[in-house]
Amino acid sequence: MRCRVCGGEAVVRLEYANLRLCGKHFVEFFERRVLRTVERYGMLRGGQRVAVAVSGGKDSVSLLHALWKLRERLGVELVGVTIDLGIRGYSEEYVGVAVENFERLGVPYRVVRLADYGFTIDDAAERLRRPVCSVCGAVKRYLLNRVARELGANVVATGHTLDDFLSVLLQAYIRGDLELLSKHKPYLPPADGLVARAKPLAETPESDTLTYARILGLRFTERKCPYAGKAVSADYKAALNLLEERHPGIKFQMLRSFLDRVQPRVAAGAGAELKRCEVCGEPSSSRVCQFCRFRAQLAGEHLRLARAT
Ligand code: SF4
Ligand code: ZN
Ligand code: ZN
Repeated sequence: MRCRVCGGEAVVRLEYANLRLCGKHFVEFFERRVLRTVERYGMLRGGQRVAVAVSGGKDSVSLLHALWKLRERLGVELVGVTIDLGIRGYSEEYVGVAVENFERLGVPYRVVRLADYGFTIDDAAERLRRPVCSVCGAVKRYLLNRVARELGANVVATGHTLDDFLSVLLQAYIRGDLELLSKHKPYLPPADGLVARAKPLAETPESDTLTYARILGLRFTERKCPYAGKAVSADYKAALNLLEERHPGIKFQMLRSFLDRVQPRVAAGAGAELKRCEVCGEPSSSRVCQFCRFRAQLAGEHLRLARAT
């Protein structure tokens, strides 16, 4: 197996592109695609500060390294953010890995502890009657936006891959969630109180981030969140991988046909207007934002438990 670029020994075979590459040329190919995605959707502009959300897994660690290598060309400044969700036996490890990556690259960073806001994801899993991953997703979105703004960042960049993007797309389609379908995009511009959100890996299959991280010898964690078994996204990803295995390139085809042909025709659903949360002042589609509601519910539970003992 020979690299198509240099004829050296290939270590990667990309079925979707019918391409074989050596390590060096795969790394170049990967970073060029990140750059192309950033440019295609107008995600970043020179002079901006980009908050890169790193969870310590292969995707966000690869994103951090690729953006770090592209930062001069893009003219942007990076700041790292990692959220300690307070998940026993999991958070300690990934926070440590994220910090190690920030320090290795000399990227300034902030570790945000959910416990400082009065609860953890373990509390939510135990006491809230809601799927823990949906609470966790809302908590991460809320904190990333708030912290990015505090850090003076113009954009939050997350490590969501092509597989993540398509998995959300399929779930929204199955639920008939037109509002989500209308705004599920690789890049969302800033809105009142909301920092812009970019997914520079939206055109990168998840399997490629693993290859990139391994070739570069990046430190990432493979430990799974103890609640991951409850995440339906894993089933959607497995279904997508089965399709891709039998029909190489189908993931890219889904992305393009959705963004180019379907989304422009999906009318924005009853798009809730953004207000300000009466408790914390952050943007919210309801009077009190979800984050403050979780917080209040868990605080109420603490009080009730305290009174009962
Ligand atoms: Fe949060 Fe669920 Fe992911 Fe765990 S698996 S980090 S609970 S979204
Ligand atoms: Zn080569
Ligand atoms: Zn609030």
